[in-house]
Amino acid sequence: MQAFVFQIAPMRVLFGAGSRERLGAELETLGAQRALIITDPSKVDLSSDLADLIGSRCVGVYDQVAPHVPIETAEAGRAEVRRTNADCCITVGGGSSTGLGKAIAMEIDVPIITVPTTYAGSEMTSIWGLTQDGTKRTGRNPKVLPKVVLYDPELTATLPPQVAGPSCMNAMAHCVEALYAENANPVMSLLAKEGISSLAESLPKVVRDPANLEGQSQALYGAWLAGLVLGSVGMALHHKLCHVLGGTFNTPHAETHAIVLPYVAAFNVEAAPEARKYLEAALGTPKIASTLRQLCEAIGGPVSLKALGLGETDLDTVAEAATQAAYYNPRKITTEGIRQLLEDAYHGTMPQP
Ligand code: NAD
Repeated sequence: MQAFVFQIAPMRVLFGAGSRERLGAELETLGAQRALIITDPSKVDLSSDLADLIGSRCVGVYDQVAPHVPIETAEAGRAEVRRTNADCCITVGGGSSTGLGKAIAMEIDVPIITVPTTYAGSEMTSIWGLTQDGTKRTGRNPKVLPKVVLYDPELTATLPPQVAGPSCMNAMAHCVEALYAENANPVMSLLAKEGISSLAESLPKVVRDPANLEGQSQALYGAWLAGLVLGSVGMALHHKLCHVLGGTFNTPHAETHAIVLPYVAAFNVEAAPEARKYLEAALGTPKIASTLRQLCEAIGGPVSLKALGLGETDLDTVAEAATQAAYYNPRKITTEGIRQLLEDAYHGTMPQP
């Protein structure tokens, strides 16, 4: 067995339908008396239910979360924490709400409780992101890690299929790349494998029947594992390509992951035999890339970069940007190789194996 380093984030996780009702007890354990709820404008009703649950411990609901944490939103959120003299923040929503909680914790010493309502997985990582002048910077800081995460599958049951499906594929991408990470380790690989099988099984269920709590639990469980591995080991080509596509052409985050993942898997698996074994076991087939593509098709949304509005000449820009700086990937990265991968993803050609 290869030598490895293993480190995991210190965090308390409560999982299960109705777990949001334990919010008050968690505040009590943290010793928090003045909690500010942070959310996006679509989660105002849910946030007001949570505010009722914690009663006088709630000092307000800040509902101005915006995608990709614009610096102005981060500053406004921090100002609201200071204005209300909050001693805890509860983030309610997807990766964007979690992201604002992290931006607050970077500068203000308040514990964060996170109630995720998508499968993004950001709540399990110490990775923060901030957007300024159209550019998103990311970094790692242990201060931003939530103290408590409450996974409640009743809250993801309202996700429309067009959000739920890509969000599952986004989580799956964290697990796939964890398997061939430069610093992969056997425990994280087991978690990644379990994450992939949970997400692959639950994706068609949450798309077809969002109210099915068994499917939601399975998807949220997979999302938790995906967040854990994302926070513990490094990522590679897939995350680089999606970052370039989103950053340069503003393609939607989760949909970009869903479309690109099968093509990166096809590109990388030959060069990563250990990862390939895990992937085959998780998906129950040696046809890894085409199975991932079928999952993407099951969402019923776009399955090609062309359908996302990209032009064929944009592929050169992406290939160049994705090969400029050196970074780890199991298979050697060349501009021609990446250009071909992007060409296939652009046309939505069925990837192999
Ligand atoms: P999001 O939070 O913007 O949510 C996507 C949409 O879904 C929004 O319109 C939101 O209102 C809606 N929504 C959320 N929960 C819902 C529910 N239960 N029912 C109905 N609608 C719901 O996006 P996301 O996909 O959750 O997260 C993406 C963001 O998170 C990106 O900015 C990404 O970079 C970041 N992210 C960060 C990390 C990290 O480790 N730092 C990890 C993953 C993602």
